[in-house]
Amino acid sequence: MNLIIMGPPGAGKGTQAEMLVKEFKIPHISTGDMFREAIKEGTELGMKAKTFMDGGQLVPDSVTIGIVRERLAAEDCVRGFLLDGFPRTVPQADALEQIIAGLERSLDAAINIEVADEILMARMVGRRICRQCGAPYNIEFNPPQEAGKCDQCGGELYQRSDDTEATVANRLAVYIQQTEPLLTYYQEQGLLIRINGNQEVTKVFGDICSSLR
Ligand SMILES: [Zn+2]
Repeated sequence: MNLIIMGPPGAGKGTQAEMLVKEFKIPHISTGDMFREAIKEGTELGMKAKTFMDGGQLVPDSVTIGIVRERLAAEDCVRGFLLDGFPRTVPQADALEQIIAGLERSLDAAINIEVADEILMARMVGRRICRQCGAPYNIEFNPPQEAGKCDQCGGELYQRSDDTEATVANRLAVYIQQTEPLLTYYQEQGLLIRINGNQEVTKVFGDICSSLR
């Protein structure tokens, strides 16, 4: 299975990605991990990427695409892969198509996990984390027994500074603006699978698997 997974922040994409890689025995390739690996191994492209990142600059497409090309050619990708965080733009999607064609394979699906904005907002704005042990809570969906206090260690619960309503709204707007052209791109190729992410985790996973078969 050669797959892409997409979804807005708070849609549960990470959880679904973990379940998918287990089910299909394919590697989960996130852009962050891919850059870290290339830098750690000291590959030529990894070193180039590092120069840009250290300078606080965006890594240019030519470097990112080269890193993706190397990663997908690695041995653990023979059964396929799950790409997460790439492509982000239509030119990157075009480049990916060429990379996959070069491996004499084709993309099986682009999975998009969809959750209504109001629900994403409630999920993220309601998040609380224990200051002592890091246990996650949600004041609406998974509240602690005593408000503001961790069930496990009694620590104080706090809200991350980027989980406020204004920052979440901004993150969602940026995400939608970036992703819309990609959704159209994969829709036109008949590869887009739209999944209702506003269900139980296992139901979401079941829907993804049945769409792939
Ligand atoms: Zn705690």
